[in-house]
Amino acid sequence: EKNIPGTSARDLTPSYDWFQTDGLITIVVYTKQKDMNAELVIVDCQDKRLRGEIILADHSYLIELDLDHAVREGFDVNIAEKVGKVEIILKKKDNVHWKVLGRPLESHNTFIKRTDRGLFYRKCKLVSKTEVTHDTKLFCLMLPKSTHLQVPTGQHVYLKQVIAGTEVVKPYTPILPSLTLDFKQLSCHDGAHIYLMIKIYSCGLFTQALDHLQIGDYVSVSSPEGNFKKSQVQTSEDLFLLAAGTGFTPMVKLLNFALTEVSCLRTVKLIFFNKKEDDILWRNQLEELALKDKRFEVQFVLSEPTKDWGGKQGKISLSLLSECVKRSRKDSKVLICICGPTPFTEQGVECLRDLGYSQEEMHAFTA
Ligand code: FAD
Ligand code: NAD
Repeated sequence: EKNIPGTSARDLTPSYDWFQTDGLITIVVYTKQKDMNAELVIVDCQDKRLRGEIILADHSYLIELDLDHAVREGFDVNIAEKVGKVEIILKKKDNVHWKVLGRPLESHNTFIKRTDRGLFYRKCKLVSKTEVTHDTKLFCLMLPKSTHLQVPTGQHVYLKQVIAGTEVVKPYTPILPSLTLDFKQLSCHDGAHIYLMIKIYSCGLFTQALDHLQIGDYVSVSSPEGNFKKSQVQTSEDLFLLAAGTGFTPMVKLLNFALTEVSCLRTVKLIFFNKKEDDILWRNQLEELALKDKRFEVQFVLSEPTKDWGGKQGKISLSLLSECVKRSRKDSKVLICICGPTPFTEQGVECLRDLGYSQEEMHAFTA
C-alpha cells in the first residue's frame, strides 16, 4: 500500500529507505512519530549483520539485514527528534558501489508488539570491578563499538552467561558511575559503558559466576526492558523513593533525573531499608548529595541494627510509612517509587494503599 502525500492515511507503520555516497551508506527510517530520542534507537552491527530496532510506544520496528558488503567498525546515528526521522550512517569498508543494501533476514521490516520481539544480546567486555560494600560490587561493562544502546531511567537489562553448560539469564538495573560527580564531564559516561551494582550471594548461581569473571572477559547483555515512564516524575512535586537492599539500583538514575531535570519537584526523599549499617550502598554519596541539594533528603532504616544505631529501625510498615511519607503541601502531586525483595514491595504497596495513595501515585519496580 502506498502512502499518498496529503491523504489522511492512518498507517503508522514505519518505513525505510537508503542511499549511498562513495564512502557511506545511509539508512533512513521514517518512524511517522514525533518525540523520537536516542534511547528509542538500538543498533547492532556485527560483521555484515545489521540489526536496527526502533521502539515506538509498545511497538518495535526492526531492520535486520545481511549487508551487501563489509562495513567498518562504528557508525553514526542521527535523530531528527521532531520529525521522527532516524538515520544510521555506515562506513563502507571498500569504495565499491552497492547494488542492494543487503539480504533481508527473518524479522526485517516488521512492526510488532515489543513483548513479541525476542530479547537480543550482544557481548560486552568487563572493564572494571570495584567494591561497594562487603558483598556488593560495581561492574563496568563496555558495549561493542558497533552497538548504539542507552538504558533509559527505570529500565533493566538481562545478563546471560553459560554456567556449567546451561544458559542462565538474570535481570539487573544499570546505574550511573556516581551520584555526586558531574557525569556529563566524565569520559566514562560516553554511552559506551554500562554500570551495574550487584550483590554477590554466597550460594547465588549467577552472581558467583559473575564474581569469577576476569577483567577482559565477556558477558552477554540484552536490550533494555521495563515499564517505568519518566513522565510520571516530570509532573510530580513530591517524590518518595522506597528502596530495600539492591532495590536501590533503579533509584540511582531516577534520583539523578529528578534532581537535574525536573523543575517542578519540591522534595525528593529516599527511605533506604537495609539489614545492617555496613550493607548501606553509597551512604557517603547519598549524604553528600543531601548536603548539596536542599530538595533531597535520605533516611536509613535498619532491620538488624547494632545497639549504637541512632537512626530508624525495623521493616516497612504502616506506622513507619505514615510517619515518613507525607505530602509537602495538602494537595501536592506525589509519586512514590518502590523496589526491593518481592515481600517488601508487596507490603509497601499495601500500606501505601491503606494510607490513601492511589495506583497512579505509585510505581513498583518488579521483574
Ligand atoms: P540465586 O541462585 O537465584 O539464589 C541463591 C541464593 O542467594 C538464595 O537461596 C538466597 O539465599 C540468595 N538470594 C538470591 N536472590 C535473592 C533475593 N532476591 N533476595 C534475597 N536473597 C536472595 N540484583 C542486584 O544485585 N543488582 C541489580 O541491579 C538487580 N536488578 C534487578 C532487576 C530486576 C527487574 C529484578 C527482578 C531483579 C534484580 N536483581 C538485582 C536481582 C537479580 O536478578 C538476581 O535475582 C540476584 O543477582 C541473585 O541471583 P543468583 O543467581 O546469584 O542467586
Ligand atoms: P536484603 O536481604 O539485604 O534486605 C534489605 C532489606 O529489605 C531488609 O533490611 C528489610 O528491610 C527488607 N526486607 C527483606 N526481606 C523482607 C521481607 N520478607 N519483608 C519485608 N521486608 C523485607 O536485600 P537484598 O539481598 O539486597 O535484596 C534486594 C532485592 O531487591 C532482591 O530480591 C532483588 O531481586 C530485588 N531487586 C529488584 C529489582 C526490580 O525488580 N527492578 C531491582 C533491584 C533489586
